Amino acid sequence: MKDFQPSRRDFLKIAGGIGVALLGTGTASKVLPAKKMLRPPGGQQEADFLSRCLRCDRCRSSCPTKVIGLANVRDGLVNTRTPVLNFHQGICDFCRKCMEVCPTGALQFFDPLRDKIGRANIQPDICLAYDSRGCRLCVDACPYGAICMDAQNLPVVDEEKCNGCGVCENVCPALVLHGFSGNRTQRIRGIKVEVREGGEDK
Ligand code: SF4
Ligand code: SF4
Ligand code: SF4
Repeated sequence: MKDFQPSRRDFLKIAGGIGVALLGTGTASKVLPAKKMLRPPGGQQEADFLSRCLRCDRCRSSCPTKVIGLANVRDGLVNTRTPVLNFHQGICDFCRKCMEVCPTGALQFFDPLRDKIGRANIQPDICLAYDSRGCRLCVDACPYGAICMDAQNLPVVDEEKCNGCGVCENVCPALVLHGFSGNRTQRIRGIKVEVREGGEDK
């Protein structure tokens, strides 16, 4: 009997068929629950964003700071190949290029002084200031004056001023220093921008 050797096209068809079958039974959403994703600016209304995004990759290709990456299947089937922000790669300076090239309006008008991508949260277990090492890089780097030192010399985020640009997470050296000291259990930095409660513009 002739061996069956599937081409790449056959493989994609089979994989797609399995995906559709799993979606039909609801199994996919249980096995691969959708995570909350940090979208490029203007994509914070998650349900509307997902219904419009074509996964066309234009926003990622046009981003000059390379802060846009792609979600994968581990982020949930519905999120696969949608654009997400990765502040370990870059920062968002709100240049608007991604919004301009988006063909469907998945990324809509965004005012960085009013709208929010997310919120920066201090991670006390990792932040070097909590480790008595006197770091204040995030305070000095924030372009919106949204972080200050409190009376104990610990960084505090002003939720109203923070728009989630990612500069603080990008400059934080804690991951590197903890990595050198052998602590590889935490893959986040001492400050991490996260989706705001509800995941919508506030
Ligand atoms: S606004 Fe500019 S820097 Fe920010 S994600 Fe879009 S293209 Fe990138
Ligand atoms: S340009 Fe718009 S439609 Fe294309 S991947 Fe980006 S958000 Fe989705
Ligand atoms: S994400 Fe960080 S750097 Fe950007 S506005 Fe918020 S606190 Fe400032």
